[in-house]
Amino acid sequence: FTAYERGIGMKVNFYGRCHGEAESRYVNNCPSSDLETDGFIMNMVINKWNMLFPGTNPLFTTSCTTALETAVGCLGLKQGDEVILPSFNFPSAANAVLLHGGVPVFCDIDQETQNISVRDMARKIGPRTRAVVAVHYAGVSCPMEELLAAAGDAGIALIEDAAQGIGAFYTGRDDQRHALGTMGDFGAISFHHTKNLTCGEGGVLMTGDQKLYEKAAFPALHGTNRSMYLRGEVDRYTWNMPGSCTAMGELPAAMLASQLEILERVTLKRREIAQGYRERLTALDKGGTIRLMGIPNYAGYNGHIFYLRFEHERQRNLVREFLLKNGVECRTHYVPLHMSPQGAAMGYKEQDLKESAKCSCTLLRLPIHGLMTMEQVEYTTDMVIRACTGH
Ligand SMILES: *Cc1c(COP(=O)(O)O)cnc(C)c1O
Repeated sequence: FTAYERGIGMKVNFYGRCHGEAESRYVNNCPSSDLETDGFIMNMVINKWNMLFPGTNPLFTTSCTTALETAVGCLGLKQGDEVILPSFNFPSAANAVLLHGGVPVFCDIDQETQNISVRDMARKIGPRTRAVVAVHYAGVSCPMEELLAAAGDAGIALIEDAAQGIGAFYTGRDDQRHALGTMGDFGAISFHHTKNLTCGEGGVLMTGDQKLYEKAAFPALHGTNRSMYLRGEVDRYTWNMPGSCTAMGELPAAMLASQLEILERVTLKRREIAQGYRERLTALDKGGTIRLMGIPNYAGYNGHIFYLRFEHERQRNLVREFLLKNGVECRTHYVPLHMSPQGAAMGYKEQDLKESAKCSCTLLRLPIHGLMTMEQVEYTTDMVIRACTGH
């Protein structure tokens, strides 16, 4: 019997953070080192990263947002240059484009995955287009072959916003060459507290291109050539260009070092939760009441988000309220950027991007994290079924 059938209510939190076994030891050892940025602990993180994701030239940052800003900065945008990105998105990439003097151009999403619609993106490429920033929503990969081909044909850069993508792959489940964030010119991952691995606030910028890495390292370190100094190539560093300070500090790095050690465990657990949802909600999906999130056959999903889609906003809201009343934290997601006050100020209308608008009012995210139990999955699905069918 499930908890619900036994008449027991449950509290199911939306987020839950897994602790690494070595976390407190790594963090407690920090004060005994001098905490110099790019010190002992950051080197440990870089070594661990290179074992997991070889050849990605990681630049660890204060957030995925600052990583995306650094990547967009490397495009050298001129006034009026355009960067295409999906409207169903967090504001980070759009802000990065505006901060660097460019124009964000919003495109629509694919109705199966809520990822960028490559067709709509290709339609929006014009003479001023310099790049596309693609989000891998929910930890499900964009169709990289089509995306890379479309960007390549147009001669524009591809930046992967893989904020949600740690532990996920374009193809296969452990194909290191196809880890999200490692296939475009640049890719950025987030370690915000809502993500699969977290150090509170943090991010990483990756590129397979050594020259691009150098280009990114200068603005990330105050616009100086400190990266060369750290490698012993120069005996002091100086100001070379406009820049900022976006390097991750040693304390969050200590936490990240221990988080990287539990990547596999967290990913497997999250996939198991998602699989539990899928099995128990398949009948509702078949009956057409809800639509389970789409995961294309090629994709190696990391269980970052698990969501349902409804036909109508009213249905979604009824289920949402029922779950909340019964202790299950569930959430909607983005207000599409083109429908936000800033998007309206840029001249967009709601009907400009129909799928993004529809997704925003019919999507519901269920709790998923590494601390969840199967009993909580059963309880949550029982609640969804009851809200949808009345029994
Ligand atoms: C979380 C997230 C970000 C922001 O990451 P931070 O590390 O908080 O800056 C950007 N884009 C997407 C798609 C995200 O999910």
